Amino acid sequence: MGTIHPVAGRLPPWPPGAHPLLHRWQTGRVDPIICSAKGCRAEAKWQLRWNNPKLHTPDRRKIWLACDTHRTTLSDFLTARGFLRDVIPVAADTLDT
Ligand SMILES: [Zn+2]
Repeated sequence: MGTIHPVAGRLPPWPPGAHPLLHRWQTGRVDPIICSAKGCRAEAKWQLRWNNPKLHTPDRRKIWLACDTHRTTLSDFLTARGFLRDVIPVAADTLDT
């Protein structure tokens, strides 16, 4: 008796269509999410978050999108220059449509 269900009525922290990450896709083109590698039309599975200290303030993050194949290529490119900060699965915190 008197059991409380804290989950009921709980809302996501953002309203539908206002996912904060969507505002970061520079083009405003939301879907499909395509790999950023030149000439690649594959669906992106990964976000590579990077920063070039010569161009960007330390808290700035540029985002490249990568398919499974180019995740390695692009992250190697960024790592070699010391730019890479994070690699995050696209599906983890963004589009799930
Ligand atoms: Zn690709």
